Amino acid sequence: MALFDDIEAGLADLRQRDQFRRRRTVHGACAPRVRVQGADGGVREMLAFNSNDYLGLAAHPAIAAALCEGVEQYGSGSGGSHLIGGHSAPHAALEERLAAFVAPHLAGDATRAVSLCTGYMANLAVLGALAASAPRGEAVAFFSEELNHASLIDGIRLAKAQTPGATLAVYPHCSVEGLAAQLAASTARTKIIVTDSVFSMDGDIAPLPQLLALAEAHGAWLVVDDAHAFGVLGVGGRGALEHFNLHSPHLVLMGTLGKAAGVAGAFVAGHAAVVEWIVQRARPYIFTTAAPPALSSALLAALDIITGPEGAERRAHLQALIARFAAGLQLRAFRRVPSETAVQPVILGGNSAALAAAAALDAQGFWITAIRPPTVAPGTARLRITLSAAHTPAEVDQLVAAVQALDDAAVRAGTGLVEQAA
Ligand code: PMP
Repeated sequence: MALFDDIEAGLADLRQRDQFRRRRTVHGACAPRVRVQGADGGVREMLAFNSNDYLGLAAHPAIAAALCEGVEQYGSGSGGSHLIGGHSAPHAALEERLAAFVAPHLAGDATRAVSLCTGYMANLAVLGALAASAPRGEAVAFFSEELNHASLIDGIRLAKAQTPGATLAVYPHCSVEGLAAQLAASTARTKIIVTDSVFSMDGDIAPLPQLLALAEAHGAWLVVDDAHAFGVLGVGGRGALEHFNLHSPHLVLMGTLGKAAGVAGAFVAGHAAVVEWIVQRARPYIFTTAAPPALSSALLAALDIITGPEGAERRAHLQALIARFAAGLQLRAFRRVPSETAVQPVILGGNSAALAAAAALDAQGFWITAIRPPTVAPGTARLRITLSAAHTPAEVDQLVAAVQALDDAAVRAGTGLVEQAA
């Protein structure tokens, strides 16, 4: 049947271009040592460097216990959307706690937060709501960083589809000058600058102080997706805004709670008016069932850890591991992206080179994902290595030795990035 033939052809095309992705089933909790199903179907223990569990909280006993207590008290499901019966006491407590935590960087006492089911939905919600704030007939302009996460890209697409006349300008990666020129050329009433703080596939950090200065100078919103920084960056774990010591009511912060916070969900924080507008108008917030209240109970326990001495210790340990990894690798054939965060990519270039490296590491018991186009630009396929506070220095040393050996072999074989470019 033609319908199925088309899908089969699409799948065959993905296989042919080395873009076919395979899910691997994990048996047990998220941890550096996980039991994972291999291509042959067998399950074996591997050393994982691919999770976003940056603080090692995904299987923390205190958070798991809070989750169980939350279920005992509030059951398994919320029973409805937030506006129709599903907004429970743990949701409200989590929002208050998050708002107080990040308030110094946003609108001070006027700061509020709203929790959403996922970061993907939070990005759709905030971008759609901000675009919808423009009076009818007034222009809306998005300014989006080139390497933004797919959920920001989709959020802008959806907002544009719902806002006639909304425009989009994509500025080059970390280019303050590029953004400045685009802003200067815009006459839109509602200007919305959109950026990741830590770029998910590169690990570098956006020049937020300069972006904020531009936002303030041009009367624009600056929407910051802090998915890979919340809980990790900043002395107190408040994320990239704390890292740079920024504060402004122009900032709208989206943080995810399934990465460093070790549970699931996301929040948007900013001036109370912005948050109220999201509650009133954002369709990805309004038309979905509220997350199980117990997740908020677990997240309150996660925030206890993130904001306490244990969180500070975990961040310090993670920083030490990042420094150890960066100092240990001396790449000649491949290229390490100069990242100071837990996302430490090694670029190999071609899709098949990245797949072969991931397979070679797999055979040695390392679980590291090869990232290929369209997630990254063609010719920049990479190993996306992520470090976690749950790793030990010895585990990082094992990884360094294995990646170094692959690089040495590529130098000998003349198959590294350097040779490909020559
Ligand atoms: N933003 C960024 C930068 C991300 O990396 C991700 C998840 N990979 C998201 C948003 C989406 O968050 P969630 O997984 O909670 O939907």
